[in-house]
Formats: sequence, C-alpha cells, structure tokens
Amino acid sequence: PVYAPAEDRFDRMQYRRVGTSGLKLPAISLGTWHNFGDDTPLQRQRELLRHAFDLGITHFDLANGYGPPAGSTEKNVGRILAEDFAGLRQQLIISSKAGYPFVPGPNGTGGGRKTLLDSLDISLESLRLDYVDIFYSHRFDPETPIEETASALDEAVRSGRARYIGISSYSAERTRQIAAEMRRLGTPLLIHQPSYSMLNRWIEEGEPSLLETTAAEGVGVIAFSGLAQGLLTNKYLDGVPEGSRATQGKTLRDGMLSDENLERVRALNAIAERRGQTLAQLALTWVLRDERITSALIGASRPEQLDDTVRCLQSTPLTDAELAEIDEHAQD
Ligand code: NDP
Repeated sequence: PVYAPAEDRFDRMQYRRVGTSGLKLPAISLGTWHNFGDDTPLQRQRELLRHAFDLGITHFDLANGYGPPAGSTEKNVGRILAEDFAGLRQQLIISSKAGYPFVPGPNGTGGGRKTLLDSLDISLESLRLDYVDIFYSHRFDPETPIEETASALDEAVRSGRARYIGISSYSAERTRQIAAEMRRLGTPLLIHQPSYSMLNRWIEEGEPSLLETTAAEGVGVIAFSGLAQGLLTNKYLDGVPEGSRATQGKTLRDGMLSDENLERVRALNAIAERRGQTLAQLALTWVLRDERITSALIGASRPEQLDDTVRCLQSTPLTDAELAEIDEHAQD
C-alpha cells in the first residue's frame, strides 16, 4: 500500500538550527550504517524509514560504502525513497559521504577531487536523487592538500549535486582550517559529524576542543553512536542477546563489552531508572544537553527501538547533581 506519513509528524519532533545556517535538523536523526544492506530484508528497511519519518525524523544519513556489500545501502534506500517517499523530497534531508575506500584502485579513497566527486556521482545514481542535502568529507586525508578537498566540496554545491557541505571526524585544528577555506570559497561549512557518547567524550577535550571550535565557526554538530552502538541501552546489561550487533562481529568490538565498561553501563542505567528513563533515553538526553549539538545520529534495527529512543525528548533536563554523578561513570 502507498505510504501516507503521520500527519502530526512535525509536532512529535524538535528541530534545531544547524550552527548559524538556515537549515534545521531533527534532534534525532537516523543513520544507515547497519540494517540497510542486502543482509536485511527490504521490507524491514521500509518499515524503519517509514516509522522514523512518522516520528518526525526527517534526516537519513548515508555513505558511499554502507552495506554489506559496500554500496548496497544507497541502492536500497534509493529504491525506498523512490517507491515510498515520492513527493516528499523537500521534507527530507539526505546526506552522503566519501573518503573511506570505495571505488577499487588508488583513487577510490581519500579527499582528492576525483575521489570525492566521482563517489558523489555514484551515490546520486544509487540514491536516484538529483542532489543530496549534505555531502561529507568522511575523514581528513593527510595526503591531499586541504585546499583541494575544500574546492571539490565547494564544487559539489556549485554544480547542484549537494545543498551543503559537512566533514566527519576531523580534529579541531583541521576543522578550523577547512572552515576558513570553505568560507573563502563562499560555501560555508555547515556541520561536523563526530562520534560522541557518555563513553566517548573526545569532542569536549583539548584547547580549543572540537565543540569550542565548531561553535566559534558557526558550524553545527551531528553526533554519531550516542548509544555506543547499543552498549548504552538496556540490551547488554545481562549478557549478549541473540541477533544483537555484538553477535554479528566486526564493529562492536569485544573490548567495548569489557567488565569495566559494563560496570559503567550498569551504574548509568541506575541513574536512568531513578529518572524514570531507559538507558537509551538517558544517553541521548545527555548528548543533546549541550546546545552546540544539533542532532543525535542514531541507528536502529527495529521500529520499537526508535519509539524508545525518541522519548528522550520528553524527559526533564538533567540537573547539575545528575550531571556530576554521570561524570563519575561517563569516561572514555
Ligand atoms: P548507535 O550508537 O545509535 O547504535 C545503534 C544500535 O543500538 C542499533 O542498531 C541497535 O543495535 C541498538 N539500539 C538502538 N536503539 C535501541 C534501543 N532503544 N534499545 C536497545 N538497543 C537499541 O549508532 P550507530 O553506531 O548505529 O551509528 C549511527 C549512525 O551514525 C550510523 O548509521 C551512521 O549514519 C553514523 N556513523 C557515522 C560514522 C562516521 O564515520 N561518520 C561512523 C559510525 C556511524 P542492534 O542492531 O544490536 O539491535
């Protein structure tokens, strides 16, 4: 049946301005790193995207190599966008990225002009779109002059293939450099996409920190893996459940499920329970406590997880006492 989105979807979500730009993102955004490759039935993917949109999650984040196999996620999501979201393009914010190995050969990776623009062309074809809203340099490339990366990103916008430019996982210093270069070119940097969670606080560290740098540059922040890939949910409190990401190898490494980390997670869960929240909700209430964070970019393997997670937006703000207690456990 044809998809008719929930009419009250925009009332269910908060929207935050991205830095000093004219764009607003939902406080919760949905990523497609997992659960949208050819290993997941298309019907499940369809349900996830529809349910997210019904909850006011207007932003879907992708990248050239997501899968498996690499590249299949953009094809699958492209098909669903064409079949289910026809007529809704202007309400959606779709992002893609290039920078990690994708096309075979020496120019299939990095931050060079050919690498970035060829990858973007492939992504647009897979996604069946004329443009993405945000195109990212997925990582800083020390072998390519930052001016070349910036100029390729500027061209992505000027040629109409992207509305805005983002960078991911760049250090504070590299962020300052490319932001200056983008401003000079006339395509201001929109957003930075770093990892950030109660168990991973690198963006707060250093002088100046990444968060201080983005704020000074007027750049927004979309923080990924705020649930620490599921560790900051009630999922692993009593062991590793069947079908969870930890059983599927690779990305949620054993070290993350160490006794030390699990002890922290249980302590944080106790704080969440006292507040009448689930741990997932506390984890995102905490990420979004800082106004410099525009959006929390989460993943989900089923629609019910999204229902749980977005309820963080209804929670009472964290008190200073609660924040101090969280700091005792929330360490890298
Ligand atoms: P999260 O930390 O949000 O982890 C998502 C996983 O947590 C889900 O797949 C699910 O795991 C579990 N989960 C989610 N909600 C719940 C819940 N309510 N209760 C119990 N378990 C839950 O983020 P990801 O690591 O998935 O990353 C999110 C997005 O960030 C990616 O899709 C991608 O778009 C982006 N990203 C960007 C990177 C970059 O380099 N720029 C790198 C990594 C991610 P399960 O499958 O076990 O059910």
